[in-house]
Amino acid sequence: MLIFGSPYIGEEEVAEVVATLRSGWIGTGPKVKKFEEMFREYVGAKHAIAVNSCTAALHLSLLVSGVGPGDEVITTPMTFCATANAILHTGARPVFADVDEATMNIDPGQIQAAITPRTRAIVPVHLAGRPCDMERIERLARTFGLLVIEDAAHCIEGRFHGRKIGALSPLTCFSFYVTKNLVTGEGGMVTTEDDEFAARIKMYALHGLSADAWQRFSDKGYKHYQVVFPGFKYNMTDLQASLGIHQLPRLERFLARRNDIWRRYDEACCDLPIRTPAPPEPDTVHARHLYTIRIDPEECGKTRDQVMGELHERGIGTGVHYTALHLQPYYRERLGYREGDFPNAERIGCSTLSLPLSAKLTDQEVEAVIAALRSCVRVPVGA
Ligand SMILES: *Cc1c(COP(=O)(O)O)cnc(C)c1O
Repeated sequence: MLIFGSPYIGEEEVAEVVATLRSGWIGTGPKVKKFEEMFREYVGAKHAIAVNSCTAALHLSLLVSGVGPGDEVITTPMTFCATANAILHTGARPVFADVDEATMNIDPGQIQAAITPRTRAIVPVHLAGRPCDMERIERLARTFGLLVIEDAAHCIEGRFHGRKIGALSPLTCFSFYVTKNLVTGEGGMVTTEDDEFAARIKMYALHGLSADAWQRFSDKGYKHYQVVFPGFKYNMTDLQASLGIHQLPRLERFLARRNDIWRRYDEACCDLPIRTPAPPEPDTVHARHLYTIRIDPEECGKTRDQVMGELHERGIGTGVHYTALHLQPYYRERLGYREGDFPNAERIGCSTLSLPLSAKLTDQEVEAVIAALRSCVRVPVGA
């Protein structure tokens, strides 16, 4: 069975985790600091603060931005539930704006239509690794006085018009969950240019203890600390960072490998009655996180779920990114959304299917995915 999203873990990671275990220092310590520094440098941001998930990163970014009850935050319905949940956890209301059907990213025109006097922030998601139109989103943010907090869970390697994702907006959130382009088991990062945001995120992530509390994690001797905010337990540990510091230097090489797999899928699918991903926009770097195809039963003779089931029978694990979020029971009931509210996201949500794209895949495995797909999607006569 080809497990969907199975990450590459090298012997370096294994050795580093073992060394960390033996060091006696398995909590937040020198390896987290090293990973933060490496990530900060990779992105070119002023600050990088490691946390234990992208969900935590989003929650803290929204909180330090002052988002709270009575506020609205505009985001996409074509995302993982964590994006909207983090908004709800602040007491604010997620307001969805439909996506562009080709890019699957939030449509700036729809953002503008969703702005009200209560809107405080925009949370764009760079779906599948494709950078959103940050120029138009930044322009809207300036015009309407909104903050932009990027959900870059899929887009570690991305660039928009020469600028690195993570160095564009006041706050950018990354994920190192097991299926992402860089994995630490569980983990996340916030990057920011703002000293005040950075200091508060760090403090909120560790119980709201005063800044010098982090020095508990050094060998300078016992330090008394003060509790200045009822914070959270969102810190990353050295065990997680032990993976990150060896995954990070491989990012670009692995992106090149996923680019190769991507091209092979494009080439192998071009005669099939399915829709393949749109090419990246000019002057952007697509982080190639998910290769998503669209299955239209009218054209394929099968539903998306049938194709997924048949691929599974042939040993190929796939994913769905995503069912349109506003149709999930909680958001329907709590926020009053209905079918028909975001037609583009809904059409994508019931037809999208993600093929394996891990840099770990061998050429034979890639060919096996293609063969399995070709055997269960009807190839038109004469093709
Ligand atoms: C994975 C993911 C998250 C959540 O990341 P965690 O690190 O698992 O909390 C948030 N947004 C998107 C778009 C994701 O894919």
